Amino acid sequence: MTPDVRDRAERPHRVDPRGADAVSSCATEPCAVPEAAWRRALKLIGQADEIALSCHVSPDGDALGSMLAVGFVLRSMGKRVVASFGDRQFAVPRLLRFLPGQDMLVPPKDYPAAPELMITFDSSTFERLGLLRDHTAAAREVIVVDHHLSNAGFGTVGLIDGTAAATAMLAEQLIYRLGGRLDRDIATCLYAGLVTDTGSFRHSSTTPAVHQMAARLVATGLRTDEIARELWDRSPFGYLKVLAAALDRVTLEDGLVWTYVTRVDRAAYGLPYAELEGIIDIVRRTDEAQVAVVLKEDDQGAWQVSIRSKGAVDVGAVSAALGGGGHHNAAGYTAHDTVEETMVKFRRELGKA
Ligand code: 5GP
Ligand code: MN
Repeated sequence: MTPDVRDRAERPHRVDPRGADAVSSCATEPCAVPEAAWRRALKLIGQADEIALSCHVSPDGDALGSMLAVGFVLRSMGKRVVASFGDRQFAVPRLLRFLPGQDMLVPPKDYPAAPELMITFDSSTFERLGLLRDHTAAAREVIVVDHHLSNAGFGTVGLIDGTAAATAMLAEQLIYRLGGRLDRDIATCLYAGLVTDTGSFRHSSTTPAVHQMAARLVATGLRTDEIARELWDRSPFGYLKVLAAALDRVTLEDGLVWTYVTRVDRAAYGLPYAELEGIIDIVRRTDEAQVAVVLKEDDQGAWQVSIRSKGAVDVGAVSAALGGGGHHNAAGYTAHDTVEETMVKFRRELGKA
């Protein structure tokens, strides 16, 4: 057995890989955020004693990683930090449990009802905050850190850059502007966000700035191999069985490849919903399809629809028309119909795109 990432991350090891002249610069960082917004965010953070962090429901590496990374820095500034996400069944997805800083997390029921200052991560809409929507509505100030082009513009300060490959890039900027330094824990969280949202540096969003940021993070001594294994190269045995069921009913029709996974499929192996995330990455490899869809039934019986495009179709627009959101090539929404009805509606919207 090799030690897990967490064991290593907890060993004290601090370096500043940026060097003295590597101040936050627009040469390597996303820069669509107006300076006035950064200034306002820094001022609000400076004034606050307690800061409540949140990210979107069913958090992925970018949402949770960005939130925890900033949480570390705020804590080192002497702030009381509380972090959460608004899932009805509050649990960190198994593949993200290696992330350091989980002691910052509290379930929604223990979250401040009306935070003085809230910061949201990777959430493009108010709705994506799930159970924390009311807390957000009641918060005095809400700083929104996000990279979705479709960001609805909620909150009182927007640190939003639709050209950034990951929210983690904006989180890194925020950390530098707060005077924070990268240590291995912080870098592990940010790296999880960067690799998740760029598909391990494979997506078209992988710019020189992405690799430059990765270099700064890796220079802290984090274990890229162990992070990769935690995120993608392990699963419970039941995953293979559920994947087999999903692949057994995969359908190819007119450039669209799709399948679905039910609660019953998962129940047979006690497989949590969050374990299904990787199925879309297998389905979307289909040469004959431009668009891939996986319908995943969550524990409440709703269908969480994952959509991927190879570029010709803007699935973010398709998803938005169906009540969701996302990016040009990766998007999703929630449906409450049957599989058949959901696909009828999906095909109709896809036909318009
Ligand atoms: P995934 O298939 O990985 O769950 O989601 C892909 C992308 O679609 C996410 O990064 C997110 O931007 C977007 N997305 C997924 N589900 C929803 C949803 O229910 N609402 C919105 N607004 N966006 C979603
Ligand atoms: Mn993201």
